[in-house]
Amino acid sequence: MIQKCISCGKEYPIDDIIYTCQCGNLLEVLYDYEDIREKISKEGFRKREIGVWRYLEYLPVENPKKIVSLYEGGTPLYRCDNLAKELGLKELYVKNEGANPTGSFKDRGMTVGVTRANELNIEVVGCASTGNTSASLAAYSARAGKKCIVLLPGGNVALGKLAQAMFYGAKVIQIEGNFDEALEMVIKLAEDKKLYLLNSINPFRLEGQKTIGFEICDQLDWQLPDRVILPVGNAGNISAIWKGFKEFKETGIIEDLPKMTGIQAEGAKPIVEAFKKGSKTIVPEENPETIATAIRIGNPVNYPKALDAIYSSKGFAESVSDREITEAQKLLARKEGIFVEPASAASIAGLIKLIDMEIVDRDEKIVCITTGNGLKDPDAAIRASERPIEIECDMDILQNIIEG
Ligand SMILES: *Cc1c(COP(=O)(O)O)cnc(C)c1O
Repeated sequence: MIQKCISCGKEYPIDDIIYTCQCGNLLEVLYDYEDIREKISKEGFRKREIGVWRYLEYLPVENPKKIVSLYEGGTPLYRCDNLAKELGLKELYVKNEGANPTGSFKDRGMTVGVTRANELNIEVVGCASTGNTSASLAAYSARAGKKCIVLLPGGNVALGKLAQAMFYGAKVIQIEGNFDEALEMVIKLAEDKKLYLLNSINPFRLEGQKTIGFEICDQLDWQLPDRVILPVGNAGNISAIWKGFKEFKETGIIEDLPKMTGIQAEGAKPIVEAFKKGSKTIVPEENPETIATAIRIGNPVNYPKALDAIYSSKGFAESVSDREITEAQKLLARKEGIFVEPASAASIAGLIKLIDMEIVDRDEKIVCITTGNGLKDPDAAIRASERPIEIECDMDILQNIIEG
């Protein structure tokens, strides 16, 4: 197991506490894949409980006794025939990450990230967050008995997420700035060794998140989808999931790879802009704005990995409006009984748009990842709904309304 720069290739020991290479680029965790191949089998996985730790051999843990877990992962992969019919698709699935312990896929990253902090005997962890990262880190650090510091950007933070971070006992600090500024500040604290940084720049977190890819293979009985569609903010998740698929291929579990398709909000779409130009770099956006606060990010740190995932997989990147997001959020709830937060609905909104654009073929087998639970952002849901009808306690009026 080593940490390696994705750009210059410099290698670092696994216990070095660094977040980027000396050359300034991103790191990734790599393994001895021949060794993994000998140790694992499809049947072997099935003997273990489904979840992140089913795939232990692919995870950066030296001492399994140090694992900090809340039983994350093992989220449902719903076959969505109602929605597929509505959209004229053959085979559509939703991987609902809102079913994780704190309600988002961030738990997969945090179980591994906080375990790493545990192995390194670090007592203070921290992050900058639009909400879900802080909710998750606060929970896992509570479970591990560690101190947690979270920096929230100014402006609207989804209420459910804020409640979680505060309730799990994190020190919550809201700054008068955007997410990218909050991240810069927390990176400085990490450089001064004041805390262990658990934003998605930390490659160990992405190791946990790649298990979404593993589970999709596992739950589809190793019959891969043609395409995976997900929302993109800081772009860690799309990078992680792509890495997971590649590692399953490298170790002989699967033969093909799906097209990675990233969706951003119109008000925060630097990766989409880069993709449309065929560029490998982004132009950061100064004032990202969208109802989907989890992807309200103008300068995604993981863009090099994400663009590589999209280009190498022959995938796509597209943006959707806040209105399209809200419509998709409602449609998914009403057709399938799945309530997700706005950012998650971007995957469905993106799917709808890509069908219209004839990028997605109606015969494709598609998995949309819904990244976070609808209860995270009750304000957004209530604003998008009609108010309850208020009546007197009168059976006649009630009957009239029901027969409507
Ligand atoms: C964090 C998050 C995202 C964005 O993931 P990235 O890895 O930053 O691209 C999307 N949706 C939800 C609900 C999230 O919490």
